[in-house]
Amino acid sequence: MSLISFRQETREWLTNNCPESMLTPMPVDEYPGGGKRASYKNPDTQVWMKLCADKGFTVPIWPKQYGGAGLNAAEAQVLREEMSALNARTPLVGMGLSMIGPALLEYGTEQQKAEHLPKIAKGEIWWCQGYSEPNSGSDLASLQTKAEVDGDEYIINGQKVWTSGADQADWIFCLVRTDSQAPKHNGITFILFNMDQPGVSVKPIKLISGLSPFCETYFQGARALRKNVVGQVNDGWTVAKRLLQYERTMIGGGQGGSAGKSSLSEVAQHYIGITDGKLAQPQLRDEIIQHGMNDRCFGMTVRRNMEESSSTKAPSFVSSMFKLYGTEQNKSRSELLLKAMGLQMLGWEGEGFEQKELEATRAWLRTKANSIEGGTSEVQLNIIAKRVLGLPD
Ligand SMILES: Cc1cc2nc3c(=O)[nH]c(=O)nc-3n(C[C@H](O)[C@H](O)[C@H](O)COP(=O)(O)OP(=O)(O)OC[C@H]3O[C@@H](n4cnc5c(N)ncnc54)[C@H](O)[C@@H]3O)c2cc1C
Repeated sequence: MSLISFRQETREWLTNNCPESMLTPMPVDEYPGGGKRASYKNPDTQVWMKLCADKGFTVPIWPKQYGGAGLNAAEAQVLREEMSALNARTPLVGMGLSMIGPALLEYGTEQQKAEHLPKIAKGEIWWCQGYSEPNSGSDLASLQTKAEVDGDEYIINGQKVWTSGADQADWIFCLVRTDSQAPKHNGITFILFNMDQPGVSVKPIKLISGLSPFCETYFQGARALRKNVVGQVNDGWTVAKRLLQYERTMIGGGQGGSAGKSSLSEVAQHYIGITDGKLAQPQLRDEIIQHGMNDRCFGMTVRRNMEESSSTKAPSFVSSMFKLYGTEQNKSRSELLLKAMGLQMLGWEGEGFEQKELEATRAWLRTKANSIEGGTSEVQLNIIAKRVLGLPD
């Protein structure tokens, strides 16, 4: 099928199938993360997820046999553009789609792919990431959670921290130490296991906002089947690094598309007003235009990188550049919204604020974590210096 026909067909399908309420910006409490414990205030969230999953559109570029639509890079770009033009919400998000799924496609055994990928594509399983530990954040390879062989299984003991969504998660992809004598990068194994078992307990970390988006996660004799090791035993660092590249691409917006985001200039016009057909505050107008141009350049760079890497289909250390720039861009977008909305974006609760204003406040504060999660900006600068620019250690 030509790209033009594909675009036409996709546009028709989206127009005919996307529920009206899914054509609005996504509220922060309507996260379509899937999983066994999922519940949604708006039933259309589930409807939209299922429709897209049946079509393969939750994971458009994955092969059809694993629940994808088997699209090539150009078709996937068309799908993103059409969804964006319609302002259709992303039907499913989470670490399954953007992190462990792609890593399994690359490193998983056929049995692992067949078992996990279709469930991820349908949003049946919520995955969490067991990387960080109390003393291992930026220096992740110093992690100490230990796994010892017991017949067909590993027994796992240790603690993870900042485990996003661990209290909702069905499964975890986890880094464990399987050789304490080897140099730190060479004794780590990447393993998958079920969170719903007696050896796993989670304690949500309560934030000042009252929310608990992440947890302390304890393993006391947790069990994982040996066949659930991804890649080679003691070579988990290879898989871990690649997964981080997928994560960084995702956090930085390096997968392209901005569907579901409100337009900066429309918001500013609403709150500030228009004079002579232009936004009434010239300086803010300039800043919004500059931001829009940067967005466009970034989008084109992302696209060029996608095209250049379409033969390998895997991200690279360049993902650190996307993460660094994309997160700064996202933070500055929220700062511009704040300038435009003024005090209306500084409310936390109570009357005098619309729901979307309260959400904008929370979203603004949430962006502050963008340059920490998935590896801090300083760590990205180190990677860019060493791995992209080839500077000496
Ligand atoms: C919203 C959010 C969600 C998260 N979700 C998860 C999750 O689901 N699973 C998970 O495993 N982890 C998760 N994390 C943890 C995250 O990966 C770590 O916070 C991050 O890697 C930094 O580690 P740290 O917090 O221990 O900071 P540290 O490593 O202690 O760093 C402290 C400061 O020192 C700087 N620094 C450290 N080393 C260097 C260096 N070599 N050069 C220059 N500067 C340096 C850092 O940049 C930072 O500013 C999440 C974090 C956030 C904010």
